[in-house]
Amino acid sequence: MKNRKLLMIPGPIEFTPDVLRAMGMPTTSHVAQNFIEVFGQVLEDLRKVFLAPSGQPFVVPGSGTLAMDMAAANLVEPGDRALVVNTGYFSDRFAKILERYGAAVTHVHAQAVGDAPSVNEVESALQSIKPKLMTITHVDTSTAVATNVKDLAALGRKYGALVIVDGVCATAGEEMRQDEWGIDLALTASQKALGVPPGLAVVVAGPRVMQAFSTRTKLVGNFYADWTEWLPIMQAYEGRKPSYFATPAVNLMWALHVSLKGILAEGMEVRFARHKKLSDAFKAAVSALNLKQVPTRPENCATTLSGVYYPQGVDKGILKYIDEAGVIVAGGLHPAIREQYFRVGHMGAVTGSDVIATVAAIESGLSRSGYIFEKGVGVVAAQRHLL
Ligand SMILES: *Cc1c(COP(=O)(O)O)cnc(C)c1O
Repeated sequence: MKNRKLLMIPGPIEFTPDVLRAMGMPTTSHVAQNFIEVFGQVLEDLRKVFLAPSGQPFVVPGSGTLAMDMAAANLVEPGDRALVVNTGYFSDRFAKILERYGAAVTHVHAQAVGDAPSVNEVESALQSIKPKLMTITHVDTSTAVATNVKDLAALGRKYGALVIVDGVCATAGEEMRQDEWGIDLALTASQKALGVPPGLAVVVAGPRVMQAFSTRTKLVGNFYADWTEWLPIMQAYEGRKPSYFATPAVNLMWALHVSLKGILAEGMEVRFARHKKLSDAFKAAVSALNLKQVPTRPENCATTLSGVYYPQGVDKGILKYIDEAGVIVAGGLHPAIREQYFRVGHMGAVTGSDVIATVAAIESGLSRSGYIFEKGVGVVAAQRHLL
């Protein structure tokens, strides 16, 4: 027994040994020369991972929710109009955060759970509301629905809205080209496809966003998230100079440094393609097992995770069986269907063997739950796709 299970949830994910080793190094001062160098390289590397050469990166201790909070706090002034392209749980969260800072929020909702609003629906909302900003959840982790960020971002730009992308379950896995696609701000957290233990909020803000920030008239209504404090810190680290506002998460920064080097060594194009291939292999197994996915259309399916309905006669009791077969997957999250489906994350350092092991564990769970299927058919379908 290895006494350790495969963690296949949509974050935190499996981390590589070199990333975990970096976490265990003796902690230095946050103004030590070697740490300043690492922080500076992290900021430079983030631009490459986000494909945002014109972006200003911010890395701050916190989770993805702080990254969302930071975007809203620095961009919203009371009375500003905001459009939320709503695909589920995390889109609702973004709306609440925007409202907290006084935004007037309009939602464009998906027609049904598992769907995403159409480009036409978003366009007519942009036309009538003329929002200052719009938010798009790249991958809604509650439903495994991916939005068409490229087309939506182009629309946002067309109507003069700042385009904000919540990439917490997507960035560094799902294809995203921040500058090329006209995304004004993209954000994520360390524990998802960036492959670093939880604890870092990451934001990359483009020139239009920094311009909007610099022309605000009111004080930012959040002390910790205020770019007035953080921008000079990021500029200092990138200029390889010491500075301090709030203590950086030193060991997590080392881990992020190692992870970003690994991501860039793989290369973004190869990485996007690998995520797509592994996701397709997993989804081929799901179909072969006659299971239904939560996303209603193939073009809505995320590549970083899958949402799968339990078949008739099976319920969340299967999660324990899958766990006993050595793999941890996640239960439902979207309130409307919480008890009806489970979620499998396949992002970051995940391999084809991990996907096969996960499908095998799910087959074991299905079998123990009394589901009738041809044993091994899922494993074969995944393997065929991989080969
Ligand atoms: C996980 C997630 C978040 C929240 O991140 P935390 O690190 O849990 O605060 C926000 N948006 C999306 C799309 C996510 O997947």
